[in-house]
Amino acid sequence: MADQRDDVAAWLAALPKIELHLHLEGSLRPATMFNLAERNNVDIGASTPDDLTGLYEFNDFDDFARLFLTGLNVLRTAQDFADATSALAAELASQHVRYAEVTTTPLNHQRRGIALEEYRDGLDEGRRRARSESGVELSWICDISRESEDPGSEATIDYLLGPAAPDGVVGLGLGGIESGFPPELFASSFQRAKANGLASLPHAGETVGPASVWGALRSLGADRIGHGIQSLDDEKLVAHLADQRIPLELAPTSNVCLKIVDSPQAHPLGRLADAGIVTTINTDDPAYFQTTLTDELLTAHRLHGFTTSKLLAAQVAALDASYAGAEIKARIRAELERVLP
Ligand SMILES: [Zn+2]
Repeated sequence: MADQRDDVAAWLAALPKIELHLHLEGSLRPATMFNLAERNNVDIGASTPDDLTGLYEFNDFDDFARLFLTGLNVLRTAQDFADATSALAAELASQHVRYAEVTTTPLNHQRRGIALEEYRDGLDEGRRRARSESGVELSWICDISRESEDPGSEATIDYLLGPAAPDGVVGLGLGGIESGFPPELFASSFQRAKANGLASLPHAGETVGPASVWGALRSLGADRIGHGIQSLDDEKLVAHLADQRIPLELAPTSNVCLKIVDSPQAHPLGRLADAGIVTTINTDDPAYFQTTLTDELLTAHRLHGFTTSKLLAAQVAALDASYAGAEIKARIRAELERVLP
């Protein structure tokens, strides 16, 4: 059905939203990055936030990795983590995002010498401020960086189950470079996480084909798949994802920026949705890919056949696929039910 609206952009801007796949460490806009660098006397080669423009323009994965490492390096104290979280929450609130599951990688910080208690205090404070100052509810997904020499899978879970864990952790993630580090390597860690009530939320099928997604499903008991865009190469996998209603967390601009997909038009979002798979739309590293959730949804509308009904349904699907508490879910659901597509 064609959209009757001629004001989709305005409708979309005001739509209550849910985001399931974005990384705290990929959310530092230039102003935040600059302020944190100044406070910590970290030289990032900029005397104003505008000087950072070049750093945020990248042509290949190495440039992206450089930006990502710079972002890590300015996060030092609990206050830094709290400020980064509340800056993200303010940005989400400005787009009417009501609830987000934010991924963060504890061991990346511990390895830089940040005490995990300091990190925890910052996340807790940031999450409190997100709620009180921006009205945004956040949950955390703590992930394992798969390509590290010692990914620290067990240490990550020990941390999440121990006294220094932040509040509001809902799942265990698996990020980093997929090629050469298949899900099967992490089976026992995810088993332990699930046995302790954490959801299994790995990245899979982003750069590696269907075998990676099958591995995440079979070895990690994945409850959702981060990206999963390579699933279309395997009809059985597509049917399985659709039948079992395993949601994909899609992030089109991320895939284009990292040159996994040739162009926004070529992204398989529309085809995955048409195949009956539960598709959710996300930003991944919004600051570094210079995107917002509103932008991603507008692109889905313009290029991938997402009518306003489908965009609204995608928010309901994201809410259903989320690990928000029952009260928060009910509140957002009631709000979404009042929206006319
Ligand atoms: Zn991601």
